[in-house]
Amino acid sequence: MNAPSQHNHHSDPTHKPTDAGFMSLRFEQFYIAVEQSPVATAITDAAGAIEFVNQRFLDITGYSRSELLGKTPALIQSGMTPNRVYDDMWTTLRAGEVWRGEILNRRKNGELYWEAQTITPVKSTDGEIINFVAVKEDITHRRQQENELRLMAAAFETGQATVITNGDMVIERVNQAFTDITGYESHEVVGQTPKLFKSGRHDKAFYQRMWQALHETGHWQGEIWNRNKWGDIYPLWQSITAVPDADGEVRHFVSVFHDIAERKRMEHELENQATRDHLTGAYNRRAFDTALSQCMSDAVHAHQPFVLLMFDIDHFKRVNDNYGHDRGDEILQQLAVCIKGCLRDSDILARWGGEEFAILLRNTQQAGGETFAQRIGQRVRSRLFSGHTITISIGVAQYSVGEAQDALVNRVDQALYAAKHQGRDTVVVSPQVSAENVEEDIG
Ligand code: GH3
Ligand code: MG
Ligand code: MG
Repeated sequence: MNAPSQHNHHSDPTHKPTDAGFMSLRFEQFYIAVEQSPVATAITDAAGAIEFVNQRFLDITGYSRSELLGKTPALIQSGMTPNRVYDDMWTTLRAGEVWRGEILNRRKNGELYWEAQTITPVKSTDGEIINFVAVKEDITHRRQQENELRLMAAAFETGQATVITNGDMVIERVNQAFTDITGYESHEVVGQTPKLFKSGRHDKAFYQRMWQALHETGHWQGEIWNRNKWGDIYPLWQSITAVPDADGEVRHFVSVFHDIAERKRMEHELENQATRDHLTGAYNRRAFDTALSQCMSDAVHAHQPFVLLMFDIDHFKRVNDNYGHDRGDEILQQLAVCIKGCLRDSDILARWGGEEFAILLRNTQQAGGETFAQRIGQRVRSRLFSGHTITISIGVAQYSVGEAQDALVNRVDQALYAAKHQGRDTVVVSPQVSAENVEEDIG
C-alpha cells in the first residue's frame, strides 16, 4: 500500500491539519495510519457526500479520489443489495447508532464484490451528526466459501450414505441417506467408531487389508457386510477415502456406501438360473460336472476320497400314467427336498435327467457311501410324496485316484442298472477299482 505523497496530502483542501505544533503532528500520524490501513475507509458528510477515502478504498473500487469526492456511495452500489438493507442502514444511522451489514457493490470495472461495512455516525458536541465513517472489508472470498459450503452441504445431504470420521475413526458426521440405510440417527453414532456396524462376517485379515490399502493408497473400496440398528446384516458397496491436511496428516476419513442387497439377490438368482434345475432346485448337469471335476482334483491332490451315487425312481412311469405328469412333477420336487435334508453342506445333489439324480459325498469312503445310500432308500420308502409311496434304486461307487470321469460314471450307472435288475428298491455298490486296473484303463 502506497502512502500518499506529501504533495497529495497537502494539496487536499478538506484534510489540511487545522492546528500547528503538537496537534498538527498527531493529526498527521492519524492521517497516515488511516491512509495506510488495510481496511477501506470512507468519510461522508451528514448528507452522505464523500469527503475522504483512503488508498485501500481506491484499490478496492478502482476509482480515483477525484471521481469519488463529493459523490455519494451510490456510485459503487450494485443495485443488487435489497432495499431493506439500506432502509435498515439509514434508520439505524439517523438514530445515531452504529450500523453493520453486508453489501454487494460494484467496482469501476463492473466487477461485483461483497463487503462487510461498519458505519459510525460522528456527532458534534451538541449531538448533531456531522459525518459518517465507513470501514469496509472485502468479504467476496468469504462469501464464495460460504456458498461453496452451502453447496457441499446440499450435496452431502442429497448424495449417497456418507460417514465422515476424524483421523482416529471417530464419527463426526453422517447424512440422511446414512440414517435411511442403517437406521441410526446422527446423535446415536457421532462420537462412536464404525466398529458399531461390525457384522462379524469378516475376519481380522479383511480389516487389515482395508487398513493397509487406506494407509498405502489413501483409498479402499469393496463389498462389506454390516449390521444395522435392528441387528440385520446386509451387504454394502463401500468406498473409503483418507483426507489429509496440508501437511499430509490424515485428519478425516470419508466413507460413502450403498446397499447392494438387491444386486446380491439378482446375482444369486442369475447364478441359480445357471447352475440349478428349474423343477427341483437341485444342481443341473453342468454344475454337477464342475463339482465332480473339483472332487476328482481334490482326490488326486489332497487325498480326499469321495463317493458318487446315482438313484432312479422305480416304476415312475406308472405314477405319471395313472396320476398325470403334474403329480409326477410334485413328487420329483418333494423327493429333492427330502434328499437335500439328508445331505451335509459339502455334499451335492444334481438332477441327472428325468427322474434320475446324482449325489457327490465329499470326504467319504465306500462304506460310508453305502450306509448313506441305505439310509436315503429307507427314508424314501417310509414316507409319502404327494400321497404316494415310492421307492428308489441306488448305485454307489468310490472314486479311485487316476480313474477317468467317464469310467466312474459308468461304474455307478452299472451299479444302478444292477439294482434295478435285483428287483428295485435296493442299493448296489460297485467294487473298488484296483490301482492296476485304473492304470490299464489310462494306458
Ligand atoms: P424303472 O426306473 O423302475 O425301470 O421304471 P420307470 O418307469 O421309472 O422307468 P424309467 O426310469 O425308464 O422312466 C422314466 C419315466 O419317468 C418316464 C417319465 O414318465 C417319467 N419322468 C421322467 N422325467 C420326468 C419329469 O420331469 N416329470 C415327470 N412327471 N415325469 C418324468
Ligand atoms: Mg425310473
Ligand atoms: Mg429313469
